[in-house]
Amino acid sequence: MKESIPLTWRKIPARYRLLGVKCTTCSTYYFPKRLVCPKCRRRGRLEEVRYSGKGKVYSFTEITSPPVAFQDQAPYVLAIIELDEGAKVTGQIVDARASDVKIGSRVDKVFRIIQRDDPEGLIHYGFKFKLV
Ligand SMILES: [Zn+2]
Repeated sequence: MKESIPLTWRKIPARYRLLGVKCTTCSTYYFPKRLVCPKCRRRGRLEEVRYSGKGKVYSFTEITSPPVAFQDQAPYVLAIIELDEGAKVTGQIVDARASDVKIGSRVDKVFRIIQRDDPEGLIHYGFKFKLV
């Protein structure tokens, strides 16, 4: 299902600034934000955190047959990044082939176009990762 423009805009803070939450009760970090800590439930106290964007590759794969909206970017490396704070995020690793990436490779976030063929003419930006 295609997202409406208002929904896209509501998601911008998380997508642009890598915002998540930390539970101060159990010191667990989450991304994206959630309203309740699944470990602590009602005892949990969540505060907003802005992730540094630095982390390491937890898992990755090379996408050669992407969804239509991402065909102009293929092949690309899609990875689960374990941020230094402990949360895991899924993102593309830019300017790299799978042969360049290893489990544990250090990465940093970069700001790139996510999708440009939106029928409304919008170009969506957000974070991706690069090897450091
Ligand atoms: Zn907690």
